[in-house]
Amino acid sequence: MEKVIRINSLEETIELGNRLGRVLKPNMLITLSGDLGAGKTTFTKGIGQGLEIKKIINSPTFTILKQYSGRLKLSHFDAYRLEGQDDDLGFEEIFDSDDICVVEWANYIEEILPVQRLEIIIKKIDESVREFTFKAIGHRYEQLMEDFK
Ligand code: ATP
Ligand code: MG
Repeated sequence: MEKVIRINSLEETIELGNRLGRVLKPNMLITLSGDLGAGKTTFTKGIGQGLEIKKIINSPTFTILKQYSGRLKLSHFDAYRLEGQDDDLGFEEIFDSDDICVVEWANYIEEILPVQRLEIIIKKIDESVREFTFKAIGHRYEQLMEDFK
């Protein structure tokens, strides 16, 4: 199941993330791909709002993983610095937990990610316009997209 949504501003990206965050269920994986500055971290801030996380969500580029508590726990990964690394990174335990996992630059660690997920590709159209392509893989995620209208 695939859906494309066009966004016209930073605020709309946050609102879209917020709407998704509100309907997420334990142990869900969201993968984010898109160029530098596409809006992956901005969208994750919105997810954080929807999960009722009070702390400010910032890019985990240098730490690879940051974790937050809200309605559910959020594990926010940034795989940018892991490009080409094929070692066992020990993330399985987190992917198997009840945490919501959001992975930026998911394409860099494709091999170690669970197949079932909500895949989101963000394309920069111009300064403030973005195109979000949502792809639900697996029954739970197809249901999630039904809930997320
Ligand atoms: P990186 O690859 O470095 O992690 P990113 O994809 O996480 O980048 P952000 O850190 O979210 O991107 O930065 C997006 C930038 O684009 C910000 O500077 C933001 O102000 C700007 N921006 C403009 N319009 C939008 C929009 N509609 N949605 C998201 N960000 C936008
Ligand atoms: Mg980022």
